[in-house]
Amino acid sequence: ASTLRLILGDQLNHHHSWFKSKDPHTIYVMMEVKQETGYVNHHVQKIVAFFLAMREFSTWLEKEGHQVIYMKLDDVENTHSIPRNLSNLIKAKNITRFGYLLPDEYRLDKQIKDFSDSLEIESEGFDTEHFFTQREELANFFKHKKSLLMETFYRHMRKKHHILMDQNRPAGDKWNYDQLNRHKLKDTSILQSPKTFRYNIAGILNMLNKMEVHYFGEIDVNNFQWAINRNDGLLVLEYFCEELLPYFGTYQDAIHTEHAFLFHSRLSFLMNVKLLSPKEVIEKVMEQYFKKETTIAISQVEGFIRQILGWREFMRGVYWAKMPGYAHLNKLNHHRALPEWYWTGKTQMNCLKHAIGQSLKLAYAHHIQRLMITGNFALLANINPDEVDEWYLGIYIDAIEWVEITNTRGMSQFADGGIVGTKPYVSSANYINKMSNYCKKCSYDKNLKIGKNACPFNSLYWNFFDLHREKFITNQRVNMMYRTWDKKPHEERTAILKQAEQYLNNIENL
Ligand code: FAD
Ligand code: SF4
Repeated sequence: ASTLRLILGDQLNHHHSWFKSKDPHTIYVMMEVKQETGYVNHHVQKIVAFFLAMREFSTWLEKEGHQVIYMKLDDVENTHSIPRNLSNLIKAKNITRFGYLLPDEYRLDKQIKDFSDSLEIESEGFDTEHFFTQREELANFFKHKKSLLMETFYRHMRKKHHILMDQNRPAGDKWNYDQLNRHKLKDTSILQSPKTFRYNIAGILNMLNKMEVHYFGEIDVNNFQWAINRNDGLLVLEYFCEELLPYFGTYQDAIHTEHAFLFHSRLSFLMNVKLLSPKEVIEKVMEQYFKKETTIAISQVEGFIRQILGWREFMRGVYWAKMPGYAHLNKLNHHRALPEWYWTGKTQMNCLKHAIGQSLKLAYAHHIQRLMITGNFALLANINPDEVDEWYLGIYIDAIEWVEITNTRGMSQFADGGIVGTKPYVSSANYINKMSNYCKKCSYDKNLKIGKNACPFNSLYWNFFDLHREKFITNQRVNMMYRTWDKKPHEERTAILKQAEQYLNNIENL
């Protein structure tokens, strides 16, 4: 009897119990398929990173003594459908048992489960042994509570896993240091360059072109800089702990035109494909924090742990609690098409030009760029969340639906009506100017709400609140905006709304 075990591109967990023993009757299969390059239009760096990481992982598995079938995109027998490839292999290799790791995406989970159920041979799904939480854990935790609050969940996780705790109290006696973590970057001399690598990707790129894979975005053939294997991933983690962590929290929300990564870890891809586990990342960070020779403030460490132990696990839990319906939520009823310039960066709004341009160049933007620049504008302009999702799912190297859609449709677009976030994340130019150096070189005037060069964010901001008065007037986190808005003279409000309307009608040319 032989067993066939499927490993998907985001299931590259070196420490999985599957690999603890070698069995000559077990074959592992990995495949590059058009099904996965084509479910959305992807940034070329995302496709390349996945394929490179998969190839390195399969080489590692083989070196460890396991049997691996690795199907390349241009292999002649590749049907480009995961179930069809599996069926063919099961026949050709006389397979009597099929095993798979539970997919993190609903789409794949359903596809592989349906396939597995249709088999006449034995089949079984296994946990990926990556997350702190099980799929259903968050839903169970919130079963009898009124709303899903990230903060409540995060505190529970801190206690449950004894992370940053002094017995039952939070270390430092505070759960949250957000107040200390909102600084603009003024002194760029403290910045470090990111830890990068140099892979030649000419072979993979030729293959993508030969196979007519659709993609967009920029790539440097001789100089692909992302870490795509475990060893390099560990170096990125070490570099983060030593060089960047001491400043992480303080500048977590800062944006700078000349520096894309600032003090961010760049670990999302590595964790999302499971080359690194969230547990080992947190352990390494805590080890650094406790080192005698370092003096890292707790606010930096807590700010980071919150993202991984809190937000990342929370998003996974919300995803499994709310899918498949979540993917269609549009509670604010937004239907405008995404402007074409989201795909080119060709707009005169400097913040968007820069954040989009950087994303096209690097397949990366940090959280506040995603939330408060590209996401903020899309929300203010009432863009259809389906199109916003498609953009985020395609453009970022770390985009996998479970964490992309909850962040985009939920946190950023409020299309879930407030499941993920308790308020809409919108701002006028004031916030963007406070956190970045974008406005300095913009052809729009950050101080104007109306008039020829008035910053579009300013009128769109008030237009958004005016449009959604019924939804937000009872929301305690934003209802004070209505007091400010209602106090403005009638003529001023009319002029602002008219300006917003003009901008929205001319959105492609902003
Ligand atoms: P750091 O700032 O160094 O943070 C450390 C880690 O914390 C990240 O690697 C990530 O694993 C985790 N993290 C931080 N914020 C979040 C969050 N809100 N949700 C879940 N995990 C978080 N993250 C993705 O991994 N994939 C996505 O597709 C994705 N899409 C997003 C879309 C929008 C609209 C927004 C607002 C955020 C999105 N995020 C997504 C969350 C976050 O922006 C990225 O995780 C982060 O920018 C990755 O860069 P980094 O590794 O340098 O992060
Ligand atoms: Fe963006 Fe407005 Fe600032 Fe220009 S002035 S960079 S459009 S916020």
